[in-house]
Amino acid sequence: MQTYYCRDNTENVPYCTTGGNQGYIRNQSYIWEGQSKDTEKPSVWKSAISLILEALQHSEKENMARKKRVAFILVDGLADVSIPSLGLRTPVQAASTPNIDAMARAGVNGLMDPVEPGLACGSDTAHLSLLGYDPLIYYRGRGAFESLGAGLAMSPGDIAFKSNFATIDDASGIVTSRRADRHFEEEGPILCEALNGLKLPSFPKYQVCVRYATEHRCGVVVKGPRLSGNISGTDPLKDNRPLQVVVPLDDSEEAKHTAAIVNELSQEMRRILTAHPLNAQRQSQGKSIANVVLLRGCGIRIEVPAFQEKHGLVPCMVAPTKIIAGLGLSLGIDILDAPGATGDYRTILTSKAVAIAGALSAPSKSTPSIFIPGEEDSKPGRSEGYDFGFLHIKAIDDAGHDKAVELKVRAFEAVDVMIGQLARLLLEEEASREKFEYSLCITGDHSTPVEYGDHSFEPVPFTICHLKDFVVAKGGESVVLRTDLSPFNLPLAGSSALAALAEQASARGCCDSCDPPVAGDSVVRFDEISAARGCLGRFQGSEMMGIIKKYIHL
Ligand SMILES: [Zn+2]
Repeated sequence: MQTYYCRDNTENVPYCTTGGNQGYIRNQSYIWEGQSKDTEKPSVWKSAISLILEALQHSEKENMARKKRVAFILVDGLADVSIPSLGLRTPVQAASTPNIDAMARAGVNGLMDPVEPGLACGSDTAHLSLLGYDPLIYYRGRGAFESLGAGLAMSPGDIAFKSNFATIDDASGIVTSRRADRHFEEEGPILCEALNGLKLPSFPKYQVCVRYATEHRCGVVVKGPRLSGNISGTDPLKDNRPLQVVVPLDDSEEAKHTAAIVNELSQEMRRILTAHPLNAQRQSQGKSIANVVLLRGCGIRIEVPAFQEKHGLVPCMVAPTKIIAGLGLSLGIDILDAPGATGDYRTILTSKAVAIAGALSAPSKSTPSIFIPGEEDSKPGRSEGYDFGFLHIKAIDDAGHDKAVELKVRAFEAVDVMIGQLARLLLEEEASREKFEYSLCITGDHSTPVEYGDHSFEPVPFTICHLKDFVVAKGGESVVLRTDLSPFNLPLAGSSALAALAEQASARGCCDSCDPPVAGDSVVRFDEISAARGCLGRFQGSEMMGIIKKYIHL
């Protein structure tokens, strides 16, 4: 293996990387490409080499002493396409994001196809792929993720559904709205309580558990003998279509039997919901009623090697969105409590930053408590802390689904403010105790083009940088440490005019005024177009963990 010696321009400390093209990661210039140790060299070279080797060993020791930890920010539905009302810029391009741009200037950039080019995927499939689990091998339906995330304990053999409270026209059997109400946090749990433990008259041996998730969603688990996950669902997937009859997807007796059970379950749920006083009350208030639960994504709990086993990093996650939390739980990832983080527009992003920073700073700070399905109370988190802090943000995807252009831009700007807070909290730890060396990484799981209103297949931008380079990009420690840590709300939809946004977008379009890159590649902004010029090029989501691990261990 050949060794490349290089010099870091900013600190003037030589360090090395071995083999391959890893030099792109950090250094600005090579001083020479080395020779093998046993080659005869003139004495001046020998002394130069020994000096450099000494420095290398010293720097390696320092690196060994500091444990590497990563804050990984996943913005759901991040990427988009050029929007005419934004002057043909994407919402990410239009947003003013000085902190995330500083990450791009400080690190390496690329464009990522979360699963594969041309594939529009769900968040769960994409997350599996990004975390190193091939969805073609491991994916078994989203039902189990949703239910685990909602706090329903699942045993082998149990089936679960991803479920929506929806509105059906009883006379015609047409689902008029697949989401009864997005703001269902107070009423959802009451209706779930009414459905939990319901009895199936023809199948008395089977137990039904229902638990509220987020927004209009809930988790549904069926327990009992001879169940199959290989059945269709009742969800018509579009409004104004008939409620579907569940059918077996293979010829097994188990699948036929399970389809019959689930059809009866769907009817029983409708009966209970129609008679529930809460729906009478909603009707009298002119609100849409929640008289059906759409059942889809029937799945069994996946059995996979745990994340820590696979990657050698102890992981934690902040994900109020239940399906993501359930996916994390399936991979053995601890789910941190983050009070006020809701997984919707009312979320307090600061709370997520504080939870992840606490988990990555432990043991000097206390770790947040963690959530265990099937248990009422939280349990203490890992006292030694975590190495990989996964911070999930849903609001940007919601804005995409809601076709809210301004909100998608402003919500992403709010993510930028949160990243500034996270960087400050991590820097306080890194600078004061010199125990950990942090990296910051940001990307998305798929595109949700805001004018289209659903997931699509465009690649997502990806950036990873070392915190210390981010600090240089921001103008020094004192600047980062002055970041305001006050919690803030996401901006409301319609809080700014589109014209102003277009103007802001066009101001960001001028690249001459950008601050220069600090390390890594020449990219100076975080967006879909700039990322395409990054040194990572275009890569697949299955390669992401490999890139992160290579980057942080240098
Ligand atoms: Zn989505």
